[in-house]
Amino acid sequence: MPLNVKRTDSGFELCSHAELAYDVDVVVLGGGPAGVAAAFSAASLGQKVLLVEQFNCLGGVATAGGHGHICSYVAYGTQQRVVGGWAYEVAARVDAAGYGCHQVGKVDFEVEGMKLILEQMAEEQAVQLLYHSFFADCHCEDGRIQTVFIQNKDGIQAVRARQYIDCTGDGDVAARAGCSWKSGDEESGQCQPVTLMFTIGGVDYSKVAAFRGNDYALADVWEKAQKNGDMRPYQTKIMGWWWTPTRPDQLGINFTHVNYIDCTKSADLTKATLEARRQAYETIEVYRKYIPGMEQCYMISTPNTIGLRESRRILGDYYLTLPDLIEEKEFSDSIGYGCFFIDIHNCSGPGMDRKRRVPRIGFKYQIPYRILLPQGVNNLQVAGRCVSVDHEALGSLRVMPQCFVMGQAAGTAAALANRHGCDPRQVPFRELQQALKEQNCILDEEDVQRFNPEFSTLAAGGI
Ligand SMILES: Cc1cc2nc3c(=O)[nH]c(=O)nc-3n(C[C@H](O)[C@H](O)[C@H](O)COP(=O)(O)OP(=O)(O)OC[C@H]3O[C@@H](n4cnc5c(N)ncnc54)[C@H](O)[C@@H]3O)c2cc1C
Repeated sequence: MPLNVKRTDSGFELCSHAELAYDVDVVVLGGGPAGVAAAFSAASLGQKVLLVEQFNCLGGVATAGGHGHICSYVAYGTQQRVVGGWAYEVAARVDAAGYGCHQVGKVDFEVEGMKLILEQMAEEQAVQLLYHSFFADCHCEDGRIQTVFIQNKDGIQAVRARQYIDCTGDGDVAARAGCSWKSGDEESGQCQPVTLMFTIGGVDYSKVAAFRGNDYALADVWEKAQKNGDMRPYQTKIMGWWWTPTRPDQLGINFTHVNYIDCTKSADLTKATLEARRQAYETIEVYRKYIPGMEQCYMISTPNTIGLRESRRILGDYYLTLPDLIEEKEFSDSIGYGCFFIDIHNCSGPGMDRKRRVPRIGFKYQIPYRILLPQGVNNLQVAGRCVSVDHEALGSLRVMPQCFVMGQAAGTAAALANRHGCDPRQVPFRELQQALKEQNCILDEEDVQRFNPEFSTLAAGGI
């Protein structure tokens, strides 16, 4: 059936001949942590859900970005779990299937195993997956998205839904729908650097661990390598060496850094990828020369895509700020907790940013539902790292457990909105919260108390 979409200034000329390929209750654009949680929840509540993803797997940065490490599930510096729902279930299932290791507060996993687990979970919930498809544009009328257009091997296809959830990480859908957004540090406008993860093999992990001891950063090593002319000054500390006992001679490396990249521009992403891949190979040479236990290490893989920490932050009904986090403000529309430190990588060079901040032990803050509700469009929610939050608060909120939390709330709200025939912002907070609690989400102190006895048993099995 050809669509009757009017030509407008924002590009529908191209899409006006698109065939309506999918007509569903909820469409989720982007299959990262936020997208899978949104799709699983909406489908588990009886919705017909289509999940559209540009790559060939679910997981976003965790898989296509080659990451292999999810944190944090616990109030900062404690063993008190404050994240439940799909975030926790994914970690537990990856561990149980032998694809990783779930410890207090985090899970380290094999990227390939994670892909399989997420696809199994999608199948269990009857989520319809559509890979190799890129969100291109949308058609809005009267403050509502009528249709989205995706580009794939079939050409341009139209997708119609009652509810749309933007989990692209970059707020692609909201931006095309005309929503306002901010980006970067409030003073400089710069975003955090991008990182191409890579996996190396041939590592003698016990030797490496002994050499590293408690010196997480190994800053002296990189300084020496740079002085000796063995390394360009792209990094000053280790950002993460991710290891799981299920792949004992391999490490996932978070070390490359490319600054001044606009993640919404393909030319910038290309430039960053070329530079980061050079850095990755350069890094391996440095590791071989300077790190005992890595003399024989070699490249196994670079991932499908470079990892993006920050781009558009879509302005919603509430703008969550650093003071909200630091003061651990409570919200009547809380959908769960964040608990990670203010993790900001240097926006203008190597290492960490001066705005990085370590909170008090026990730090946890509530995430208000209203940051998922973009202003100006009524049947659209945004979940994941592109929500309504300031640059510094995003430093904490952007990590994966919190993206799962936001996605789970968006998918649940979409289902409730469809059930009531209303828009997501009209769904009563209490009803949304009750539905989330029924999915084992942790929303308040009562839930923290309820879930922690169970967690201590599970944690005892970790290393
Ligand atoms: C290098 C790096 C290291 C990190 N380290 C950690 C860590 O140790 N622990 C942790 O918990 N978090 C970490 N994070 C943060 C975390 O991984 C991300 O912030 C989180 O994955 C964001 O989740 P998301 O679902 O919002 O977006 P993403 O994970 O970015 O997923 C977005 C998905 O949408 C798809 N997509 C995007 N645009 C389109 C489009 N137009 N059409 C179709 N599909 C589209 C993408 O392919 C992707 O699958 C790290 C991030 C980076 C970059």
